Amino acid sequence: MTSGLVTDVTIAIDLKPPADLLPRQPQPHALPPLLERSDLWTDFMVADARIPMYDVPFVSIGGGMGSFMTVDYLRAAGGMPARDIRVLSNLTHPWQTYEKLATASQISRARRIRSDAASRPDNLWGFPSFALQETLKDRTIKPLIQVLLEPVFADFYTPRLGDVLDGMEREANRIGYWDMLVRGDVQIVRRRVGGGYFALMTTHPDGPFAGGKPTAGLVAFRCRDAHIAVGYSGLRYLPDLQRFREQLNDFHHVVNAYEDHEHVYEALRLRQGTVLVRGAGIVASQVLERLISDRTNGGAPTQIVHLFRTYVAGRHGPHAWARRRGRGGFAYQGFNYPKSVWGGLHRERMRQLEGADRVRLYDEIGGTTTAWRRHWQRQIESGRRDGWYRTMGGTIEDLTLDDGALLARIDVPEGEMHVRADFVIDCTGLDGDVGEHRVLRDLLEHGGAGLNPIGRLDVDPSFRLRGSTSGGGEIYVTGAASYGGYFPGVDTFLGLQIAAQEIMDDLVQRDRCRPLTPLRSIAEWLRWVAGRRI
Ligand SMILES: Cc1cc2nc3c(=O)[nH]c(=O)nc-3n(C[C@H](O)[C@H](O)[C@H](O)COP(=O)(O)OP(=O)(O)OC[C@H]3O[C@@H](n4cnc5c(N)ncnc54)[C@H](O)[C@@H]3O)c2cc1C
Repeated sequence: MTSGLVTDVTIAIDLKPPADLLPRQPQPHALPPLLERSDLWTDFMVADARIPMYDVPFVSIGGGMGSFMTVDYLRAAGGMPARDIRVLSNLTHPWQTYEKLATASQISRARRIRSDAASRPDNLWGFPSFALQETLKDRTIKPLIQVLLEPVFADFYTPRLGDVLDGMEREANRIGYWDMLVRGDVQIVRRRVGGGYFALMTTHPDGPFAGGKPTAGLVAFRCRDAHIAVGYSGLRYLPDLQRFREQLNDFHHVVNAYEDHEHVYEALRLRQGTVLVRGAGIVASQVLERLISDRTNGGAPTQIVHLFRTYVAGRHGPHAWARRRGRGGFAYQGFNYPKSVWGGLHRERMRQLEGADRVRLYDEIGGTTTAWRRHWQRQIESGRRDGWYRTMGGTIEDLTLDDGALLARIDVPEGEMHVRADFVIDCTGLDGDVGEHRVLRDLLEHGGAGLNPIGRLDVDPSFRLRGSTSGGGEIYVTGAASYGGYFPGVDTFLGLQIAAQEIMDDLVQRDRCRPLTPLRSIAEWLRWVAGRRI
C-alpha cells in the first residue's frame, strides 16, 4: 500500500524493515547525538544510526485507555485494518494503569466508578448501556429502575469497574488489539523529511512486538500519522508533603491516594489512630468510605480529620441558575463536568473561546467535585454526629515527626491549628505537567508544538497538534496532555471516545479511512453484539 502524502515512502503492509535500510551492525541502545539534535530526520540518518525501521501508516503512543478507544474507533468505525496500526506502549494491556490507579484509590473490580451507564470504552455506540447489561447479567431490574429515577429519586447509576474492564478485554480480542501492540518505551517522535514521522522506541525484551517476537533495543516506526495519549506524568504531591517525604525519607506515614497504601488501612484496623485526609474529589470520598467501612466492620475506632483547601459550605457557583450543591467542605456534581460538556451548550461554547475566555469557562465548569451518594452521606453524617469525623478548611504549612506521630501545622481562616495524626492520605491528584514527559517535552522543543492557555499541548478541534504537521502527516493528542483545549471532557471515557470520533472524521476527510455510514454502523453494531472478530 502506498501513501499519497508521504511521497517517497512505501508504507509496507507487514512490519518488515526495508531491505536497503536494514542495519549492518548491531543497533544502538541510546539515541545518537545527531538525531538528538535534529528537528527533522531523513531516512538515511536513521539507517546510518543502525536503527531498524518499520513502516506503518498509523501509530498510537501510550497504549492506555485513550489509545484503546482511538484504535477501536479506527478499526470498528473507520474500517482500518489492524496491520495499518501499531500501538506503542509500555503497558501489557490498555486498562493496566487505569485499573492500578483505581484499585489504589479504593475502587476494586466489584465497586462502582464515576461515569454513567452509556460511557462504554468497549462500545462506540454506547448501547446496550452498562445498566441494561447489568440487568441482563444479574437478572435484576434494579439498574434500569435506577437509571429511570436518577438523579432526583436515586443516585446516578454508575457501572462496576469489573464490568468495564471485562468489556474492554472482549473488545480488545475482537479488534485484534494484541496483534497491534508493540511493547516498549517511546523515546521521541520527530518529523520526517518527506512527510510523516519517526516514533523512536526502546522495545521491551519480553515483547510482544505486534504479536511476534521481540526486537531488542532502539527501533523506529516510520509512520504517516501518530496519535499520542500518554496519560499523566506521575503522582502529584503538594510541596509540604513532598518535602516531608524527601527530607525524612518517609514514604510510610504520608501517602498519595493513587499509590498503594494498603498498609495504612491495615495499621488502622489493628490499633486506634488518627488519619488526616486531604482533598475534596471523588478519590477522597472513596478513601473515606474505606476508612469508615473498616471502622464499622470491626476495626479500630479510627479518628478522621478531613482538610479541605477550599471549604464549600453550601450551594455555590457564578450563576444563580446553575449553582452546584455543596456541603461539609465538598462541592457536589454527578460527573467531572456538567453533562453539556460532552455534547451540548458547554461543548459548543468552548469551541468558540480562545485564551483567557477559555480559561474562565474552564474555571466555571471545572474544579474539584465529588458525587452525591446516599450511603456516603449516611456514613459521614454518623461520623460527624459521633465526633470521629471532623472537617476543616485550610492548608498544611508544615509537617514534622514528633514523638513518632505526625504533627501538621495548618493555616485556617481563624489562625493556626496543630493536628496530630498517624497518617496523612493525600487525595489531591495526578501530575499533568507536559514538561515532565519526555515525548511531550521533545515535541515542544523539536516538534513545533505549543501550549494552550492552561499550559498543556495546543490542539485544534480535531485534536491535531498545532504546529507539528509534517508533509501531510498529523500528530493527534488526546487525554490529559490536551486538557485545556476546545473540549474539556477529553480525559474521560466518553470524552476519549468523542475525541477518537473527531480524529476518525479528520482521517476520513484526509482519505485515510472509511466514513461510518448509517448502514455500516448498523452492520458493525450487529457484529459487536455477536462478538465477531474484525
Ligand atoms: C482512579 C481514576 C478513576 C477514573 N474514573 C473515571 C470514570 O469513572 N469515568 C471516566 O470517564 N473517567 C475516569 N477516569 C479518567 C480516565 O481514566 C482517563 O480518562 C483515562 O484513563 C486516560 O487515558 P489515557 O490513555 O490518557 O491514559 P492511561 O490510561 O494512563 O494510558 C497512558 C499510558 O501511556 C503509557 N506511556 C506513557 N508514556 C509512555 C512512553 N513514553 N512510551 C510508552 N508508553 C507510555 C503509560 O503507561 C500510561 O499509563 C478516572 C481516572 C482515574 C485515575
